[in-house]
Amino acid sequence: MYIKAKKSLGQNFLIDREVLEKIVSIVKIADKEILEIGPGSGNLTSYILKKKPKKVFVIEKDDELSLILKDKFANQIEIINDDVLKISENEITDQKLVVFGNLPYNISTEILSKWIININKKFWFESLLLMFQKEVADRIIADSNNSKYGRLSILTNWKLNVEKIINIKPQSFSPRPKIDSSLLLFTPKENSFELKDAKNLEMITRIFFSQRRKMLKKPFNQIFNNAKEVASKFNIDLNLRPQNLEPEIYFKLTKEYEDLKR
Ligand code: SAM
Repeated sequence: MYIKAKKSLGQNFLIDREVLEKIVSIVKIADKEILEIGPGSGNLTSYILKKKPKKVFVIEKDDELSLILKDKFANQIEIINDDVLKISENEITDQKLVVFGNLPYNISTEILSKWIININKKFWFESLLLMFQKEVADRIIADSNNSKYGRLSILTNWKLNVEKIINIKPQSFSPRPKIDSSLLLFTPKENSFELKDAKNLEMITRIFFSQRRKMLKKPFNQIFNNAKEVASKFNIDLNLRPQNLEPEIYFKLTKEYEDLKR
């Protein structure tokens, strides 16, 4: 059936069988509860179902596609016809979900950030296998001292292990996007650094990386009244740049900020 893709919903459907096969071969699906974000016309969903999952939930915002999915899969899947950004993902089921998503690129970082911020103490998923624009994936996996390193890398590193699985060419999609894509696998990090509120880590990294070419002095003075004292406590040279500090330092600085604020 011909489906006209809606640009506003980031609709680029995966049509490459090799890539679809690859995506469902990375993590165990059999007997697991699966959540797929943005199933579109159900190309990936069909491959997931072949692997005999215990249950498949899908979240699809497009009403028209939700009807097509209902027609195609009947009661093989549970369709949540809603916006993934509005859903409380930890209320979908009691089981830990295995999550798949060829994400709408216009909101991919928003989805990932929202999930990380909402993790709190309990992980609602076992793994996340997600497709991003390659340029965004490179930012997520970047290490310190790299020009792509920034807020997304630090936020991800706080709660998740991440591994790049493959890059995917525009020809694997219809309609073809203009850019390459990358598939990333995220798994929960044991014993992540404890913070009172993830929003503080977001705020602190925003202040640092909105002036990424400036020396650390400036954001430090903006955040801390006792900037010099804090810098020396953590052995930080204030003449360095934000990208020179490891994620762990940002976690410690956030905790320091939270403790001072009390
Ligand atoms: N998974 C399909 C595939 O690989 O062929 C389609 C992927 S397409 C890149 C993104 C999908 O996410 C589309 O089906 C789109 O309608 C859906 N979508 C866009 N925004 C959404 C949102 N806020 N919540 C849920 N689904 C959304």
